[in-house]
Amino acid sequence: MTATKRVLITGAGGFIGHHLARYLVAQGHWVRGADLKLPEFEETPGQEFELLDLRRADDCARAARGVDEVYNLAANMGGIGFIEANRALIMHDNVLINIQMLEAARLAGVKRFLFTSSACVYPQRLQQSTDVTPLREEDAYPADPEDGYGWEKLFTERQCRHYREDYGLDTRVVRFHNIYGPLGSYEGGREKSPAAICRKVALAEDGGEIEVWGDGNQTRSYCYIDDCVEGIDRLMRSDHHDPINLGTDRLIPVNELVDIVSAAAGKTLRKRYDLAKPQGVRGRNSDNAHLRAVLGWEPRVPLEEGMARTYRWIEGQLRAQGRIAARARDAAVA
Ligand code: NAD
Repeated sequence: MTATKRVLITGAGGFIGHHLARYLVAQGHWVRGADLKLPEFEETPGQEFELLDLRRADDCARAARGVDEVYNLAANMGGIGFIEANRALIMHDNVLINIQMLEAARLAGVKRFLFTSSACVYPQRLQQSTDVTPLREEDAYPADPEDGYGWEKLFTERQCRHYREDYGLDTRVVRFHNIYGPLGSYEGGREKSPAAICRKVALAEDGGEIEVWGDGNQTRSYCYIDDCVEGIDRLMRSDHHDPINLGTDRLIPVNELVDIVSAAAGKTLRKRYDLAKPQGVRGRNSDNAHLRAVLGWEPRVPLEEGMARTYRWIEGQLRAQGRIAARARDAAVA
């Protein structure tokens, strides 16, 4: 039984923030969300939701008033295409959000502050083959993170440490590895590859083809959203303040992810490779030794099950918009 807390979730209008709000409310906590936008696909479950621009110090102060804990998830981010095309914007916005939310939390007397970092902090040199060695937390230095987005994450990780050491703000830092699930963006440029693949498979006709970015041999590990929010909660209740991976360590090629989604859809599809599209590092996996040791736990939702749930949700969205039925009709007429 956990004691009731008053918490702020920044980025609660986004994918992980919204799921986290639902999880913490279900645990009996009082939740305030803050974001530029309301959640897109469901009403917020929290007691309060404030539309704020956290690039502004006064909005950060407003968001942080009267809470015990801050879960700082707000970020200007997206899939690999967005991240590679918007480095200046991403660094500008996210530096402002993160350094000002830390300061607002300190001034408001917040007891614990979580920063959501990323596997993008790891050096490019350790991610150059498809059969990469899983990345350990200490591998982040000597630093050579993903340009723009990864540098900002690493910078804010440091600032969390400085706030803990200099001001006694109790910080937690989690490095996510490809979180996926329902209620996330699936089109428009901000979506990540699991959601994009689900959309493409849902819109393709059985026997047809879908486009894959790169040659499809690039490898990743993927973590289902329910595991992600449980991991966040466990980390916040632990006394571990150094950065820690949160992901699975099942490494698979993107081609296999496409096959898993196609199987969930009951479709046979050909893959057309677009080698001109950004594909990120060649391989990336999470080393979960610290996660297991610190939390006595690790993610457990099998990829096939999580992707089937995600596919069904995205397919349902597209169907509700009439976009799948329309394709089937067109195909029948042709
Ligand atoms: P998301 O884009 O769905 O959510 C981020 C939210 O931040 C959005 O709702 C956005 O409107 C909000 N935001 C952006 N600028 C803001 C501003 N100026 N003021 C207030 N709100 C603002 O992304 P997500 O997938 O839910 O990611 C949450 C956090 O986890 C981010 O910090 C992200 O960098 C990190 N992360 C996510 C993944 C992943 O796989 N999804 C991987 C690594 C790290």
